[in-house]
Amino acid sequence: MNWPEHMFVGALFGIIIALLLQTPAVDSAILVAFASVSALAPDIDHDSSKIRRISNITVPIAAFGFSFASTCTESVMCTLEDLRSVIILGLAITGLYMIVLTFFKPRHRGITHTIFAALIFAAFIYIFSDLNFAFAGFAGYTSHLLADKHIKLA
Ligand SMILES: [Zn+2]
Repeated sequence: MNWPEHMFVGALFGIIIALLLQTPAVDSAILVAFASVSALAPDIDHDSSKIRRISNITVPIAAFGFSFASTCTESVMCTLEDLRSVIILGLAITGLYMIVLTFFKPRHRGITHTIFAALIFAAFIYIFSDLNFAFAGFAGYTSHLLADKHIKLA
């Protein structure tokens, strides 16, 4: 399956989750969109996948955004010393992402295409968001495995 089909199946799973959770319309729309994007996550192990192209751009931006937000909260203005730490931390996170994908890249349809990975994914979403998003993320991620007809526990 290619990425638009995965997003479509993920959205269907998101609709089921939204119906089960009985969330208000706007929240439901966000959950469906989130499940739809989550359905792309397992193909992070694939060099030319859509999700890789997305994350190659968003990971560095998010890394620097996170460094900036966590370093410069004390004062409104960043000091020069703060900026130095922001750049070092941002580069470190970006570098780690690149090293993992370059040297520890899982083989295609390996560990990322398992229920175990879906649970880890949902746990991360729960830490950074809430239980509704964790459910939507799990449903979207699992929809990819079902669509691939590649269901393994671990
Ligand atoms: Zn796949």
